[in-house]
Amino acid sequence: MTDIYEGIREIKKYALDHQVPIMQDEGIDFLTDYIAKNQVKKVLEIGTAIGYSAIMMALSNPQLTVVSIERDRDRYLEAVKNVKEMHLDQRITLLYKDAFDVSFQEKFDLIFIDAAKGQNIKFFEKFSYYLADSGTIITDNIYFHGLVDTPLEEIESRSLRSLVRKIKNYICFLNDHPAFQTTFYRIGDGISVSVKKKGRKRKS
Ligand code: SAH
Ligand code: MG
Repeated sequence: MTDIYEGIREIKKYALDHQVPIMQDEGIDFLTDYIAKNQVKKVLEIGTAIGYSAIMMALSNPQLTVVSIERDRDRYLEAVKNVKEMHLDQRITLLYKDAFDVSFQEKFDLIFIDAAKGQNIKFFEKFSYYLADSGTIITDNIYFHGLVDTPLEEIESRSLRSLVRKIKNYICFLNDHPAFQTTFYRIGDGISVSVKKKGRKRKS
């Protein structure tokens, strides 16, 4: 039988050895705290990688279920193995798919976006449809190694510049979104928390 802490240590070591960008400790603490404080029961995660964040979320609350999507075959298979070894396969459902090809019949309390950083607006637009009333969308890597604070013209690589521009656009998109209230946190690699506003209130 795998001890939980030993299992987590091994997953983190694998991530380090294979350069899998799993969430930082501070970020995971924030996420699991948020889940506890807000009685989150159903999570949808975009970007499983090897299952680390899904496992940490599930371990933080025995009532929680997670559906998580991953398009990379090797990572998906590693995640399946990890979830099984942690005995969480009853509560974590892994989908080997491109997130843009999935649809659901259910809604989720929390949607965690942690996939291709240039596609965040598209993920947000697609998956907000599956968010329960007054649910939350949390996005990881919103400051992207601090590069979001760097003026674009100082970033030499063209592809990196384009990616950083997209992340900056995502921040504007969240700030301007009429149906969500977003707060940004300088935690880990930067985290945004977007809460769906309750039905529109009239000004009196
Ligand atoms: N949430 C994980 C880390 C995810 S890393 C953790 O903290 O443990 C980001 C992952 O998103 C990568 O494995 C990548 O393959 C996946 N990804 C990127 N774009 C995707 C898409 N369109 N559909 C599904 N998975 C995607
Ligand atoms: Mg991340």
